Amino acid sequence: MNIKDVVIVGGGPVGLFMGLCLHHRGIPFTIIEKRTEIISGSRSLGIHPVSLELFAELGIAETFIDAGLKVERGHAHSGEKILGTIDFKDCPKPFNFILLLAQSETERLLKERLLEVAPDSYIENAEVSSLDQQDDFVRLDIKKDGKTHSVETGYVIGCDGKNSFVREALGIRFKGENYPDTYIIGDFEESTEFGKDAVVYLPKEGLIECFPLPNNMRRWVVKTDSYINEPSPELIADLVSKRIAASVDPSTCTTHSSFGVQHFIADRFIVDRVLLAGDAAHVVSPIGGQGMNLGWIDAWHLANVMSFCRGISKDLPIADMFVYETKQKPMAKKVAKRAELNMKLGRSTAFPTLKHQFVSSMLKSPLQNKMAEFFTMRGLETWWI
Ligand SMILES: Cc1cc2nc3c(=O)[nH]c(=O)nc-3n(C[C@H](O)[C@H](O)[C@H](O)COP(=O)(O)OP(=O)(O)OC[C@H]3O[C@@H](n4cnc5c(N)ncnc54)[C@H](O)[C@@H]3O)c2cc1C
Repeated sequence: MNIKDVVIVGGGPVGLFMGLCLHHRGIPFTIIEKRTEIISGSRSLGIHPVSLELFAELGIAETFIDAGLKVERGHAHSGEKILGTIDFKDCPKPFNFILLLAQSETERLLKERLLEVAPDSYIENAEVSSLDQQDDFVRLDIKKDGKTHSVETGYVIGCDGKNSFVREALGIRFKGENYPDTYIIGDFEESTEFGKDAVVYLPKEGLIECFPLPNNMRRWVVKTDSYINEPSPELIADLVSKRIAASVDPSTCTTHSSFGVQHFIADRFIVDRVLLAGDAAHVVSPIGGQGMNLGWIDAWHLANVMSFCRGISKDLPIADMFVYETKQKPMAKKVAKRAELNMKLGRSTAFPTLKHQFVSSMLKSPLQNKMAEFFTMRGLETWWI
């Protein structure tokens, strides 16, 4: 098995982007991914301006923009009337919009690009099953085609998601909890008059969000009182109709699921020669759509740190790489707080009128710009060493 200086465990959206960032910095790497197929289904949708800026650095922004859908406005709605509008058009150009693209398509495009620029860097259908850190290298066991290959590499980056094997192998605590909030989500044929606008409804029974999708579809996210084990398109349609009197046609649903939400953060993002990025390092509430984008920011910064350290010494000085944790961990906490606020705003309330008045006055005040910044992941400190 041909293994390079850095092994990235996991070829999800963050692992793939991590590979592209290392390639950009001229650092040889190998991605080990256990799946052979990209997971379809309803997960991330929003690509934020801050990520598009990073994509532009890698020369891939246009590919994504061509495939996705630009959302320039979002409305807050009580269910009966529009409370206010956030306009992203006044945000810094050229990425003054949120790009909507299904996570499966995002992963497909990232993988396509990776295979174009570094074809021998991606090994799929291969699972990392043990990790042993030594002073000068990391030994990994990789299961592939019924055999276990024992390999050595300089550094390992765990991009292996929230149940990270890498994190667990290092015994790093993952601190956090499940929120009580639960949702059902489904993609349906467009049935609203909102065109390319996103809408957040705040009825007293709890949040409903809907986002435009390519191919004349719209994604609906509906807050539920408890986790629904067997969600159905009919249930989503029924809740939408009862809460906000809108109609969606269950027969047009292409994918649907239930999800609960959590926030978790790893105690350490780096232990000697092993680092964590993406959901392996932190999980934030998906309401607000920031988890994958945060993982990309991790990857960008980590590649910069590695490149800087390689400039000093071919063997990356571990002490200097520690800056990755000292900077990225506070950012992850900040994003988690923002996502939490976003989610809490959608909870059911005994005082819906008060909430509507609050949201309406915010959106009609100069704070509207601050809210646009908040929703587009602006105002996070980007850093350099
Ligand atoms: C309903 C929902 C909506 C969301 N919406 C958004 C959104 O709009 N915007 C946003 O930014 N985020 C959103 N998120 C969050 C986003 O989906 C995650 O943050 C993102 O998938 C994390 O990417 P990752 O690459 O870190 O981990 P993952 O996507 O979990 O990928 C990890 C990869 O590692 C592989 N792997 C695991 N273990 C091993 C092993 N031992 N060996 C080899 N390979 C391994 C897995 O097969 C997988 O491919 C949403 C999440 C949900 C649930």
